[in-house]
Amino acid sequence: MKLCRFQPVVLPAPESRDLTETHPVPRIGIIRGDSVRDVSGDFASGWRPGKAEWDLKNVKLLPPSVPTKIVCVGRNYLEHAKELGNEAPGEPVIFLKPPSAIIAPEEPIVMPSISRRVDHEGEIAVIIGRTCSQLGINEEVQPYIAGFTCLNDVTARDLQKTDGQWTRAKGFDTFCPFGPVLETELNLEAAGVETFVNGVRKQSGRASEMLFPVDVIIRWISRMMTLHPGDVVATGTPSGVGPLQAGDLVEVVVSGVGTLRNPVVAQSS
Ligand code: ZN
Repeated sequence: MKLCRFQPVVLPAPESRDLTETHPVPRIGIIRGDSVRDVSGDFASGWRPGKAEWDLKNVKLLPPSVPTKIVCVGRNYLEHAKELGNEAPGEPVIFLKPPSAIIAPEEPIVMPSISRRVDHEGEIAVIIGRTCSQLGINEEVQPYIAGFTCLNDVTARDLQKTDGQWTRAKGFDTFCPFGPVLETELNLEAAGVETFVNGVRKQSGRASEMLFPVDVIIRWISRMMTLHPGDVVATGTPSGVGPLQAGDLVEVVVSGVGTLRNPVVAQSS
C-alpha cells in the first residue's frame, strides 16, 4: 500500500498554474493507480478509507510523515566508505538532520552560497510507525516500522570535512527531501536504491549490501533515543556520491517505492 500526505490543489487560472499558490490543509491518502483517496486513522490503529478521491495530477504530494527527528546512518555501504577514504565502521555511525531541512518532492534543493560542493546521497529510509525504545537484542523490529520511502541526504561535502562534526554540512534548509510515498509492504531484501542526476545514473546499491541491516540499526538507535511514529531513519548511501549544480534535476529511486524528484537551485543573494 502506498500512503501519502498531500494537499489538494485548487488550480488557479490556466495561465498561472503554480502549485505554490494554494495552501489547503494536508491530508493522508492511499494512492491507487492515478488517483488518491483520503483516509483517516494512524499507524497504530490502521487506516480507514474516506469518500473523497482526487486525480494524482490535482494534488501536491508532501513528505509522507512529520518526523520529530531524522536519524541517518553514515558509511553503511563498504564502497561508499572507501570512496571517501574511510574504513568499514565497527558499529553504526549515526547523526541527525533537523526537521527544518525537510522539503517535499518537486521542491527545490537550495545550494548554500557558503559551500563549494553540495553532494547528493540517495538512500532508503525507514518511517517509524510505533513508539520504539530499548528494543531487545533479538527483538522483532517489523511491528515498529510503518514502511519505507526515498530520501536524499544532501550534504555540503566541503563543510563536512572542515567542520569535523556534521551538523552544518547535513543540516541546511532543503537538505532533506523525502517521499514521494510511504510503501507499507516493501520487500526490503529485494529492494535497491539508485540516484540519477539529469537522467544519468550516479549511484546504485541494494539493501542487502548494507553493512548494518535495518533491524540492527533500529534496535541500536532505540537503545539510545526513543523513536516516535513518523520519525525517519535514513539507512546510508551507496557509492557514487557526487556534486550537484544549480539547474540539475536529482532523482532518488527506491525500487517498489517510487521516485523522489527535486530540482537544484542556487541561493539567491
Ligand atoms: Zn547519508
